[in-house]
Amino acid sequence: MTLFTLPEDQIAIRDMARSFAAERIAPHALDWDARKHFPLDVLREAAALGMGGIYVSEEHGGSGLTRLDAALIFEALSLGCPTVAAFLSIHNMAAWMIDRFGSETQRARLLPGLCRMDQVAAYCLTEPGSGSDAASLRTTARRDGDHYILDGAKQFISGAGAADCYVTMVRTGEAGPKGISTLVVPADAPGLSFGPNERKMGWNAQPTRAVIFEGCRVPVENRLGEEGIGFRIAMAGLDGGRLNIGACSLGGAQAALDKSLAYMAERKAFGKRLDEFQALQFRLADMATELEAARALLYGAAASLDRKDPDATQRSAMAKRFATDTGFRVANEALQLHGGYGYLSEYGVEKIVRDLRVHQILEGTNEIMRVIVARGLVGN
Ligand SMILES: Cc1cc2nc3c(=O)[nH]c(=O)nc-3n(C[C@H](O)[C@H](O)[C@H](O)COP(=O)(O)OP(=O)(O)OC[C@H]3O[C@@H](n4cnc5c(N)ncnc54)[C@H](O)[C@@H]3O)c2cc1C
Repeated sequence: MTLFTLPEDQIAIRDMARSFAAERIAPHALDWDARKHFPLDVLREAAALGMGGIYVSEEHGGSGLTRLDAALIFEALSLGCPTVAAFLSIHNMAAWMIDRFGSETQRARLLPGLCRMDQVAAYCLTEPGSGSDAASLRTTARRDGDHYILDGAKQFISGAGAADCYVTMVRTGEAGPKGISTLVVPADAPGLSFGPNERKMGWNAQPTRAVIFEGCRVPVENRLGEEGIGFRIAMAGLDGGRLNIGACSLGGAQAALDKSLAYMAERKAFGKRLDEFQALQFRLADMATELEAARALLYGAAASLDRKDPDATQRSAMAKRFATDTGFRVANEALQLHGGYGYLSEYGVEKIVRDLRVHQILEGTNEIMRVIVARGLVGN
């Protein structure tokens, strides 16, 4: 059910991703979460189906699809596991940044491997002292002949330690956003190391580590675009990334709703099936309605980014905020509707709640999404 009637080719893309999620992700999601296993082999299988460079141009191995196609894919994959889908989203975001801002030489060198996911990319913006206020980042890159020497640290980096390249925002100039540049740091760069895998509430099927630069040497030829445009590159990546994360929340929450429907059709209390109580039916109705509203907002924002509308950034922020808040609420309601069983791992709902919680925090917190929307409204 959707307000949009998708054309046949988009239905085919969505169904392909749904089948992949049902066959290759969902059966393993609980085990990967429990073992903190990062399923790179399965991500590579997804890449073989064109999901390693969804909106990277076809010229260098990408699928050349739209942001709306990507939203459909990430929503579908998240029916199986939002954490695995969300990592794929981060990899896609980093690959797109190289495609959009890299030179022809960089694109030809890096993109084919990234699209196949022989090479995996991470996105490094956040630092221990700067998250929301990303433009105050302090990792420095000092020029030394045809290399930069990096010193500093990135915090909370998804895929760190497992990824092959790190699309990293560094300070090459003045304080503030205009002194930031973007470098692609290879995993084997001398002076690069990683912190331990963080223990966290959810998103266990992908590692989160600090990335540490100590006199780390990176060739100047690895810089994307000119010096000083790195903050713009980082924010451009996030417009699409935020839509993808919102889509991951929709898929996760839909899976939780579907589990509730199945459970309530079986479970009895006071001589009736749970789904016969009107109070509970109304809650199901609200969950479905709110998800549908979030879906409409998100698909609209994705189409707006595809058209490069001037307000696409604001609409992406609106959609990210609304879809991730709604997704978390719906998943949490689904847990409640399962009673005590919702709290047990084996039913799979508590994992979805844990996974979706972080979507309200990362790729810009939902407070920062409000800052972006409000800035457009009050012209500040
Ligand atoms: C599991 C996980 C994976 C992540 N992966 C990555 C990654 O791959 N790459 C990467 O670069 N980063 C990543 N992050 C970092 C994430 O993007 C940041 O945590 C996030 O941007 C918030 O930054 P912070 O944690 O420093 O919080 P802070 O910026 O310190 O914010 C603390 C609180 O203050 C609020 N706040 C701050 N400023 C304002 C304001 N102006 N108005 C109103 N409220 C405000 C925030 O919304 C928040 O509630 C990840 C984080 C997690 C938890």
